[in-house]
Amino acid sequence: MLVLGIESSCDETGVALYDSLRGLLGHAIYSQIDMHEAYGGVVPELASRDHIRRLIPLLDQVLSITGVDKKQIDAIAYTAGPGLAGALLVGASFAESLGLALNVPTMPVHHLEGHLLSPLLAADAPTFPFVALLVSGGHTQLMRVSGVGKYELLGETLDDAAGEAFDKTAKLLGLGYPGGPAIARLAAKGIAGCYKLPRPMLRSGDLDFSFSGLKTAVLTVVRDHELNETERHDLAAEFQEAVTEVLVAKALAAVERCGFDQLVVAGGVGANLRLRERLNAAAARRGIRVHYPPLDLCTDNGAMIAYCGAQRLLAESAGQTTHAFCVRPRWALQAV
Ligand code: ATP
Ligand code: MG
Ligand code: FE
Repeated sequence: MLVLGIESSCDETGVALYDSLRGLLGHAIYSQIDMHEAYGGVVPELASRDHIRRLIPLLDQVLSITGVDKKQIDAIAYTAGPGLAGALLVGASFAESLGLALNVPTMPVHHLEGHLLSPLLAADAPTFPFVALLVSGGHTQLMRVSGVGKYELLGETLDDAAGEAFDKTAKLLGLGYPGGPAIARLAAKGIAGCYKLPRPMLRSGDLDFSFSGLKTAVLTVVRDHELNETERHDLAAEFQEAVTEVLVAKALAAVERCGFDQLVVAGGVGANLRLRERLNAAAARRGIRVHYPPLDLCTDNGAMIAYCGAQRLLAESAGQTTHAFCVRPRWALQAV
């Protein structure tokens, strides 16, 4: 089955073609980061308008690099939520009208389910069951995953998401958007431990997180005195270390609590190399295997949506043929 995937939930437009027999045939992403950077964050109305501009050229690009003809497409999967309402509507209306024109079924996909299943697109893919650590710009959750569509929430952040904490802390350090990669670059030149930041909820005994206090702790440091270059590096390194330490401890505790031996990490923060380094080392000591999506599929993309839609279509349903649609800006993953 050849599935076209469309992603437009936030500030990346993604289009991909996934074949259930041959795998990912090709994908293309357009990131709006440069456009939103001037505003220090994503401007929803600008995001929607830009998705409109990008979708047709991206589709043409993917058809051209894969050599596929539109008529060969069997189904269209698209992100129906959660995300920015206007941005989601662009992708949904594009996907449904293309489905109507090509007379193929469509499949609305949950954006986080896309992230969660994205490690299955890697060469060394995990097998069910596993624990998933979802660490993105809007979410930080631990999920027990026993199969496609079988997700049980084990714990989540009580306030800011891990990616959000990176983004907000980056702002405090005078860095651009998105903050994750910017902090990681600074942290690579600094030494963790020169500053002492808290490890929120490390010993809470549950699998929940809290990151807003960490950002406030950074604020206290930068408010009290002007940091020189070295101090900024050291503070970034300590911040990255604090987030990483808590994520590693809770993720491995979740795997052990479930009695599994596989952990899957998905979402933008999963691209953080220090997180990967610490997680891999700690997991190896406990006999746990850690799986990541291919690096270019950590942040938003169409490939994970095409893949997720294909699994859904194969597993349980023939897809939608009415081409009526609605989007769900707020939508819990456990509810799919
Ligand atoms: P959601 O999926 O929850 O709706 P989102 O789609 O905005 O949110 P992603 O695209 O998965 O989230 O990830 C973006 C986030 O990942 C941003 O917060 C960004 O700062 C963070 N991020 C990206 N690369 C890195 C990195 N190397 N280190 C830390 N954080 C990173
Ligand atoms: Mg994004
Ligand atoms: Fe995302």
